[in-house]
Amino acid sequence: MTDLHDLSLLQLRAKLAAREVSAVETAQHFLARIEAAASLGAFLATDTSVSLMQARAADERLARGDNAPLLGLPIAHKDIFVTRDFPSTAGSKMLAGYCSPFDATVVSQLASAGAVTLGKLNCDEFAMGSSSENSAFRNVLNPWDKTRVPGGSSGGSAAAVAARLVPAATGTDTGGSIRQPASFCGVTGIKPTYGRASRYGMIAFASSLDQAGPMARSAEDCALLLSAMCGPDLDRDSTSLDRPAEDFSRSLNDSIAGLRIGVPAEFFGDGLAADVRAAIDTALKECQRLGAQLVEITLPRTELSIPVYYIIAPAEASSNLSRFDGVKFGHRAAQYTDLQDMYKKSRAEGFGDEVKRRIMIGTYVLSHGYYDAYYLQAQKIRRMIADDFQQAFKLCDVIAGPVAPTVAWHLGDKTDDPVANYLADIFTLPASLAGLPGMSVPVGLGSGNMPVGMQLIGNYFAEGRLLNLAHHFQQVTDWHSRQPVRMA
Ligand code: GLN
Repeated sequence: MTDLHDLSLLQLRAKLAAREVSAVETAQHFLARIEAAASLGAFLATDTSVSLMQARAADERLARGDNAPLLGLPIAHKDIFVTRDFPSTAGSKMLAGYCSPFDATVVSQLASAGAVTLGKLNCDEFAMGSSSENSAFRNVLNPWDKTRVPGGSSGGSAAAVAARLVPAATGTDTGGSIRQPASFCGVTGIKPTYGRASRYGMIAFASSLDQAGPMARSAEDCALLLSAMCGPDLDRDSTSLDRPAEDFSRSLNDSIAGLRIGVPAEFFGDGLAADVRAAIDTALKECQRLGAQLVEITLPRTELSIPVYYIIAPAEASSNLSRFDGVKFGHRAAQYTDLQDMYKKSRAEGFGDEVKRRIMIGTYVLSHGYYDAYYLQAQKIRRMIADDFQQAFKLCDVIAGPVAPTVAWHLGDKTDDPVANYLADIFTLPASLAGLPGMSVPVGLGSGNMPVGMQLIGNYFAEGRLLNLAHHFQQVTDWHSRQPVRMA
């Protein structure tokens, strides 16, 4: 018999529905793996009694013949989503031990679809970072090579799925945090169109960019999860789109004959490592064999997406993070002289260096004297970047390119150089700024035998198209089912 952890979500679902295995047995199996792989640092919290209680409830529903789409399937949440039953920290000392009185909308949607939560996943503090080294608690190791980073900020989610500690996980993507760790760990991940998944209960980083999405081994499994994660939440998220949930599994097998794949020249310039380029080139040829055609396109403001993002995201973060003042919740300094001193000390002690850096940048670009020069200018260019995509989508249906310029780097390589980290976001930021759906699909192994992800970007609401192309690709390749040899 194949081990439970080698099954896809869909295969597990079939076994659960046929009552060949119970949800409790499934949860126990994965919880044991999580415990055995603690050294990876992927999880920040587990709670056996909570998970088994949810699994028992799922078993009861299964016994009644309930056919909720995720019934009994184990998942885990990035610790950016607030959860009633597990602590929610956002990877920050500021929220260490914090317990939310409610569940994020995405968490409750997945729970009502029947998913069983196995715990909370490590991430960069307040989702700020590209390597998960900004977690206040500990580093996450890449299961493919434990001397390397898993990417970030959803590094715990990617590492957990890659090491088969859980078949799927949630992540959030503000400037690439689903796509880049998926690429670094050889898993599949998708960030939907901005506004499709509710941001209610997602601890805010940059509200105009933050989006939730699934990470799993295949496009098929991502489709299953994404269908349960999307949908309007108009009363609780003012940017939620009034667009009904969709069943993304339905279009997976649609024909891709004649599909026009746009290849942006700017994504294949000097900064792209040769091993990554080779894997992407091969994957694009495979897409051609599958019936798609390649079209040259241009996204002329790609480079500008870095300064634009690193103005807008910190600006929003500086405002969002002002709520952490030591008064209502979160860390409060033990000793202080007056209210001002309490604010200062609580924030100085609670936030890590990268978060402080961004609060300072954000406060600066929003300040009276600099608002026009930085923030307003960045907003204008953001619009132009979005317009460039609309020009490109006149020529193509889907855009393809690398997710990141290199494979996963070694732990510590970029910790002293924030700008080096920011530069590595170049290919994921444009779609984020435009609010477009983006995906990472494993397409090969590069230097050090490390996974390479191909990025697919679609026009607004084209998630189904991205999953459809990725699914076809995964029918004829096996990169998504490879697993790290140096396992936990
Ligand atoms: N690496 C980017 C940053 O540091 C993106 C993070 C994210 O998407 N949450 O901001």
